[in-house]
Amino acid sequence: MKKIEPTLLNVQQSAAFLGVNSATIRRWAKTNQLNGIKVGSRGDWRFTEEALSKLTSKPSIKEERRKFAKITELLKENENSIQVMATSQHTHLIGGDPLPAEHFHKYKKIHMKVVRAIANNLHDFEKGAANFRRLGVELARDAVKDGLSIEETVNGTIFLKQAIWKKLEEVGLLKELSTQDLYEFSHITGSYCDVLASKIAFTFHNVFTEKVRASEGRFRVLTEKSADAIALVDRKGKVLHASTSTKEVMGYTPEEFKKLPNPFELVPPEERKLVTKLFQKLLKKPGSVERLKYQITHKGGYAIWVESVMSNLLNDPHVNAIVINYSNITARTEADKKLIKSEGRFRALLNASSDVVYHMNPDWSEMRHLEGRNFLADTEEPIKNWLEKYIYSDDQKRFKEAVKKAIRSKGVFQLEHQVKQVNGVLGWVFSRAVPILDEDGNIIEWFGAASDITKQKELERQKDDFLGIVSHELKTPVTSIKAYAQALEIMFERKGDTKTAELIGKMDAQASRLNRLICDLLDVTKIQSGRLQFNEGCFDLNDLVREKVEEMQRLSEKHNMIKKLTATKKIYGDKERLGQVLTNFISNAIKYSPQADEIIISTSSNTKEVTLSVQDFGFGISQANQEHIFEQFFRVKGAAHDTLPGLGLGLYISSEIVKREDGKIWLESTEGKGSTFCFSLPIKKTVGPKQPAKKKISHNNG
Ligand code: ADP
Repeated sequence: MKKIEPTLLNVQQSAAFLGVNSATIRRWAKTNQLNGIKVGSRGDWRFTEEALSKLTSKPSIKEERRKFAKITELLKENENSIQVMATSQHTHLIGGDPLPAEHFHKYKKIHMKVVRAIANNLHDFEKGAANFRRLGVELARDAVKDGLSIEETVNGTIFLKQAIWKKLEEVGLLKELSTQDLYEFSHITGSYCDVLASKIAFTFHNVFTEKVRASEGRFRVLTEKSADAIALVDRKGKVLHASTSTKEVMGYTPEEFKKLPNPFELVPPEERKLVTKLFQKLLKKPGSVERLKYQITHKGGYAIWVESVMSNLLNDPHVNAIVINYSNITARTEADKKLIKSEGRFRALLNASSDVVYHMNPDWSEMRHLEGRNFLADTEEPIKNWLEKYIYSDDQKRFKEAVKKAIRSKGVFQLEHQVKQVNGVLGWVFSRAVPILDEDGNIIEWFGAASDITKQKELERQKDDFLGIVSHELKTPVTSIKAYAQALEIMFERKGDTKTAELIGKMDAQASRLNRLICDLLDVTKIQSGRLQFNEGCFDLNDLVREKVEEMQRLSEKHNMIKKLTATKKIYGDKERLGQVLTNFISNAIKYSPQADEIIISTSSNTKEVTLSVQDFGFGISQANQEHIFEQFFRVKGAAHDTLPGLGLGLYISSEIVKREDGKIWLESTEGKGSTFCFSLPIKKTVGPKQPAKKKISHNNG
């Protein structure tokens, strides 16, 4: 072997150096137009740069460069028309259907790549051939996927070769080429296309076809396992394959089903048009899926409902057909019909009701729908800003809290609140919503109804106003009666007429009772309208107990009032109002334990709160009644209680006062043994005033 000089260029490098084709370089070397050296066992050529440079000025080189540059340019410009020409040649000479649209586009793309590759590799045959082998594989794979025959694909490349030549002829370039050039160009394009054709024909087509067959087998196994009937049909609707479950679903064996002209024959005429139209639509889009519920006639002659899913898998090499999946939904459809019927009844029921109806999503972040019944504005599409739309701003916080509680407990949501009516005016509703749960107990949605209680609320307000005015008007004369009675009592006592003085004393006591009743009524109306005033300050609860016990002890000599005062902390609040609570506890203890002779009043404190309790040993209260004891106008019914006077307001007022002071109120009681009424106030309130001295009790309707 000869030593290769580093300055020597091989054929490709030389072709690139001169800008001509490598075959031309070889031809010149063979005909001694170019001085070269044969190297290696294959006897390839090497050239010096000097030898090559001598040729650069050669007119034939310039000429060749120009021609090939022109061809390259031409091919690049005409990729598209060359492809069209090749396809029409194919159709013209071979006959049969032209390539379907989706294939056409793909082949166009591949053929364009071929033309581009020819154009770019005119100077380098080796590289071109390698490229073409790769393209051949690509083309073969696609051809098999698309179900094209070997002839169709090989012919495709042959017609492409012809089309390229035709184009060159059309533009007169062929005339410009010498016989030698023609030979060379034919050699290049011809060899390239032949490389393609032979690759497709002898290697890959078979390999890919085998692969597709194997996967088809797998596909068939899969369809046989399904309970649904599965059919493969071609683009004309002809059944290529039907799964065995066709028998179960439609009564036809796969063979019988295959013999049908097309599966749409089974669809009743009135629906057939719709189904075939959908099929046509599907054909236009490879990879698309269409779904439709329709009836088909079972082999037994009766109609069944199927849900059919049609998939265009014509492009899928594993299927290469339209796949129709039939699932029998007759039972489901019947159930649906029943559901629709019962839903219809439910709807009718809703329509008959005058309540506003609404649906909320599980966490109430979205209102799905609301029928406003001309009271509230309707919401037809789901909305997120329903709180702002419907709920009065002052009630929004309270509303959200009630919702949170209902979600947490998965229980009923229930609230009286104000709403923005459709006419822009505020109104009142009593709203109730229940959660709908799934099998696992998760909330699917909330279903609610709200009744318009605006009128009722207005009446209530009028009643409160009336009570307010009346009790206020009553208070003045009663105070005067008391003052006169006390003056008279003193006068008669001075005169020594003790009998009359005693009677007048009793009159004064009754006037005091009347005064208390009026005060209670007044307080209630103030609570309702949010006008109950508080004067807060720091004081010792033990002092308050001592004061009140002394006062009350005078009223009942029968009961011995025992004080157990262990609270060590002062509290912050309205002394008078809390004194009112204590008075109520003690007077109830006296009233409802007529047989007993002891009442224990205790205070205690820990780091968090101060507690007060009043214990008696009287009637006690049953568990059922305990639940309602702090409600307005609630009084225990029964022989013992009925004889005792009262309005059932004292404990209601007490609970409102304690709540307002951020405290807790409760009782412990056993019927027949006695009761202990308690309240506690948080220590933080002992720190000092945080709020203005005068404040209003909040309006509580919830
Ligand atoms: P009133 O005493 O004016 O009826 P309250 O609101 O103070 O109103 O009390 C409500 C009801 O609770 C009373 O009617 C009574 O039946 C019951 N009750 C209150 N305190 C006691 C108690 N210490 N023992 C038994 N029952 C009580």
